[in-house]
Amino acid sequence: MKRRILHYGEEPLRQESKPVTTIDDDLRALVKDMFETMYQAHGVGLAAPQVGVNLRLFLIDTGNAPMVFINPEIVKTSGKEICEEGCLSFPGLREKVERPARVIARATDLEGKEFEVQADGLLARAIQHELDHLDGVLFIDRISKARRIQLKRDLERIAAGESLEPDDDADQADEEA
Ligand SMILES: [Zn+2]
Repeated sequence: MKRRILHYGEEPLRQESKPVTTIDDDLRALVKDMFETMYQAHGVGLAAPQVGVNLRLFLIDTGNAPMVFINPEIVKTSGKEICEEGCLSFPGLREKVERPARVIARATDLEGKEFEVQADGLLARAIQHELDHLDGVLFIDRISKARRIQLKRDLERIAAGESLEPDDDADQADEEA
């Protein structure tokens, strides 16, 4: 079942999420719903708070394989890279964000096994972006204050439930509303 993606301005996006304590049918159902929601929105990542569930859990699929990260942590970062980023909770907004270029992350998968992943490129970026969501941090917190002021009007529109997508993408906006 597809879930509604919360947009900027909705409270759960700003809350600190709690660790997952049990991997049960409810959690598996949530993950299934989140994958459906993410693919339908053409996203490469989705964090539980984005569907209103404040648990430390996110999904990523950069095109190689679907990955589930439960109680994730970043154990090491290196390098620096500026890349354009978007977020399903900010429809239509894309901004350049500086982040470490490479990360080593640790998490538990849906079978309860701990795993470690070394990532660069899009995967490294997605892991950091999604992990931020679990701490109530949004990508606009990582751009300059001056740029954030320039975006004030756009952010107000998103907070009012609008999409910044051009009209030809209105279908999707309608679906999400
Ligand atoms: Zn996001």
